[in-house]
Amino acid sequence: MTTVNNNPVIREATTEAPVLEAVDVTKHFALHGVRAHGRGKVVHAVENVSLALHSGRITALVGESGSGKSTLARLLAQLYPITSGEIRRHGTPVRVKGGKAFRKYVSAVQLILQDPFGSFNPVARINVTLMRAVKIHHRGASKAQRQQIIDDLLTQVNLVPPRQYTEKFPHELSGGQLQRVSIARALAADPEVFLADEPVSALDVSIRLGILNLLRKLTDERDVALLYVTHDIASARYFAEHTAVMYAGEIIEYGPSEEVTQRAAHPYTRLLIDSAPDPSRPEGEDRLSDVGQPPSLIDPPSGCRFHPRCPLAVERCRVQSPPRFDLESGHGARCWLYGDDEDAAAHRAHARELPGMTGVLRTGRRADLEPDGDR
Ligand code: SF4
Repeated sequence: MTTVNNNPVIREATTEAPVLEAVDVTKHFALHGVRAHGRGKVVHAVENVSLALHSGRITALVGESGSGKSTLARLLAQLYPITSGEIRRHGTPVRVKGGKAFRKYVSAVQLILQDPFGSFNPVARINVTLMRAVKIHHRGASKAQRQQIIDDLLTQVNLVPPRQYTEKFPHELSGGQLQRVSIARALAADPEVFLADEPVSALDVSIRLGILNLLRKLTDERDVALLYVTHDIASARYFAEHTAVMYAGEIIEYGPSEEVTQRAAHPYTRLLIDSAPDPSRPEGEDRLSDVGQPPSLIDPPSGCRFHPRCPLAVERCRVQSPPRFDLESGHGARCWLYGDDEDAAAHRAHARELPGMTGVLRTGRRADLEPDGDR
């Protein structure tokens, strides 16, 4: 039996209080100079999203480009003001706009960006960059102590011996080495949260695993909460305990990573999995591209935002936005297929009839999507 949950904070099944959470967060960006019906138009980048991050846990936030996942990470980092909702740290709403409060906040909540080359001063040696961070976060330390802290940070990210790296310029390091330095810089603040925005997607495939393993190790050893923003749902299964899938500014599926990736409930998640890089798939086959492009967030589709691309859409999907239906084991999805009413049962029956949908339905979360009939 499913339960309807209109807007819960999506959290892991733990009694531990979250370190950082977004509660019903919405972000609209104004489009300056664009008006319709006398009103300014906005980009609906993030819509009523709730997500909780816990110490020592990794949460993956997965979606295509433009789904709002990076915007959500920046909202959690307080780089943009939210339009509505709350960002809570240890249960207390926080809004910092600059000055001392902002500096204190970013010490605790560190953002790691996709492109390590873009986040370094190209004419400053690594030691100079790290020393700046160490000076900010270790004010009482002597010069010798600061240098020791830099050596320790580089050792923690497996850049050893550290002095082999401190005198180099960013262009003298590989992408993987530079991403390790950016993680070391983030560690200088001794944060309790890492917001890693596509931390490996700009790197060579061969070194991605090393960086993910490093982030895993640091999460465990330092008991930090890590948000892993990625378009690669396959890596979410490997790397994160918990996965939330974002589409067109909304979280449409969430739960333990094993559940979400192995028994995906939402048709979008299923297509995302089917479109993940797979050497065994015939070249050119990409089920997600086959169903069109993501919608405009200036005028998002009515009802379920995925309906223009969804092979299982019915009339209800076009007019009514689905709530979140909790399934089992902390797994849930925003899709009318998981409703308990007669319309949902008819919807499931209709879905079973569709040619070519077997792959989607048979791997669906609910057994009643199997051809055997309703539970
Ligand atoms: Fe598809 Fe309808 Fe479910 Fe949206 S609510 S994902 S359109 S079946």
